[in-house]
Amino acid sequence: MERFRDYFEDVLQSLYDGVYIMDRDRRITFWNRSAERITGYSASEVIGHACSENILMHVDECGCQLCLGHCPAAKAMDEGVEKESRIYLHHKNGFRLPVMVRVSPIRSEQGDVVGAVEVFSDNSVLETSMKRLKELESQAFSDALTELPNRRYAEMVLRTRQDQSERYGVAGFGVFFADIDRFKRVNDDYGHDVGDSVLRMVAGALKYCVRDGDVACRWGGEEFVILVGAENLEMLARIGERLRAMVESSSLDTDKGALRVTASFGGTLQRPGENFTDTVKRADSLMYACKENGRNRVTVE
Ligand code: GH3
Ligand code: MG
Ligand code: MG
Repeated sequence: MERFRDYFEDVLQSLYDGVYIMDRDRRITFWNRSAERITGYSASEVIGHACSENILMHVDECGCQLCLGHCPAAKAMDEGVEKESRIYLHHKNGFRLPVMVRVSPIRSEQGDVVGAVEVFSDNSVLETSMKRLKELESQAFSDALTELPNRRYAEMVLRTRQDQSERYGVAGFGVFFADIDRFKRVNDDYGHDVGDSVLRMVAGALKYCVRDGDVACRWGGEEFVILVGAENLEMLARIGERLRAMVESSSLDTDKGALRVTASFGGTLQRPGENFTDTVKRADSLMYACKENGRNRVTVE
């Protein structure tokens, strides 16, 4: 029994939501860590106190004091049903914090209401706006068609790498410029929608082929930039060959049968003190060398 108690207490402690339990007299008997985080009050400050002492100072949207009168917990216990409401509680730092509370009555084995458990989540506008900001940020850095990071993201990583190499002499960073071979023909022969599906297929091939810390980005059109950790040209060539083979061995089911494409890869290592646009330009011209030499190949230098 004790072991079960400890287990359930651990579970309640680890919940992201604030949880507290009160007895029939609305005296607080349990207060989890998230409740501490959200309200600023530690368990020792509230356990043993009654909600009716107004320690939590819950108010509704009109500022009516709930703990003294229409407390959702009291209602849930009196009526024996679950209650949910949006209220404001008092943070230890003094301000009002909007939370969503759900209160459920706790019953004894005989069915009598012996207390209530209240779960509340941080519903603050700040949290919502931070979430929104993160969403916008991820939209700004991702390509809608392939869901790969976009050119803006690639440039940000490239700039960071350039700074690191200038300041700390960090090396071991390579850039591939990849371009799908004869992609115009795909659009011409199969239509633009199939062309789009091919772009997603190639994106997937590149994305799942890179190792941890490496990143494949859509540069634009049918061009991709893959940023990889590589100590030397041999290693870079091996990575490039793996990427090339992954694209070549992918295939898309279409009305006209399986469709395959290939791509050409130019790869180079970032040089100390070099502006990242020059690194990308070099990778791009090596990619063009592949096109001239028959496509579906890797050139590193
Ligand atoms: P190469 O082997 O020399 O690279 O030949 P290519 O046909 O791939 O090169 P080209 O630059 O002539 O054609 C690229 C084509 O990619 C033309 C353009 O219509 C197509 N394209 C660019 N962006 C998209 C896209 O988002 N969707 C689709 N379906 N096609 C695109
Ligand atoms: Mg191109
Ligand atoms: Mg092309």
